[in-house]
Amino acid sequence: MSDKFRDPIVEQINNLLPQTQCRKCGYEGCKPYSEAIAKGEAINRCPPGGEATMQAIAELLDVEPLALTDSRHIKRYAYIRENECIGCTKCVQACPVDAILGAAKYMHTVIRDECTGCDLCVEPCPVDCIEMRPVETTLQTRYAEQDKARRSRQRFEAKQARIERLKQEMEAKRKERQAALKTQKSTDKSNSSALDPVHTAIARAKAKVAAKSSQKRSAQKTTAFLKKRLAAAKSKLALAEQHATIDSKKITALQQSVENLQQQLQTAENELHQNNRSH
Ligand code: SF4
Ligand code: SF4
Ligand code: SF4
Repeated sequence: MSDKFRDPIVEQINNLLPQTQCRKCGYEGCKPYSEAIAKGEAINRCPPGGEATMQAIAELLDVEPLALTDSRHIKRYAYIRENECIGCTKCVQACPVDAILGAAKYMHTVIRDECTGCDLCVEPCPVDCIEMRPVETTLQTRYAEQDKARRSRQRFEAKQARIERLKQEMEAKRKERQAALKTQKSTDKSNSSALDPVHTAIARAKAKVAAKSSQKRSAQKTTAFLKKRLAAAKSKLALAEQHATIDSKKITALQQSVENLQQQLQTAENELHQNNRSH
């Protein structure tokens, strides 16, 4: 998270917590517990922080100190009996500060300097090969503790951010898959309706009707046209026959033309009749 979004009170409380990330306070880590304290949660729920942490928070918030809910806390670190490890990676997933190294089906090991002793890796191990060992407290380890708390906090926050990013990526992929599935379904639907035999038969019948209507229209036009031409030819022939000066060859040609047109009209009318019958 960017610094400008950090709540200063939460940050100050979180700075006082030991960053063991053990969840013994009932929250998912030190940061979530500090957020809860800022909203009024009791200040006495952190066993690893002990009396000193509780007092420091009471002073910071100017509230009454409280008796610890659990004062039994021994500093410990996790140790994996490596020859028994089956490489299932369950401990890696459980560790809040990424203090366990190992890949699937390979032996795992704890980075002791990064282990906060939260013991969250113990319970998930299916072969029970993780044990908690006490930490020897020396002057040197006491000096190193503050630095370790700073690193634990960073590792915890980095892991949380990674989990959040993975969640978002998975959600985005899920949405992508859903959209693809939706498109696929609508394509399948239109394909199946195109392949549906009833749908195909209806489409074929419609096309046939459309073709016949077009044939009928064209036959009607032809018949009307021929009728006009025949009427014109007949009136020309009648005029020619009334004038004795018109040469007989021309009259014969006009008669021939009238006959031809009559034949053509007869054929067109037959065609039209057939079209009408087939509808
Ligand atoms: S050290 Fe454990 S109990 Fe204490 S605040 Fe952090 S997570 Fe909670
Ligand atoms: S290795 Fe185990 S005990 Fe150590 S920090 Fe990780 S989960 Fe906690
Ligand atoms: S949970 Fe146990 S068996 Fe599985 S990888 Fe971790 S130490 Fe090995």
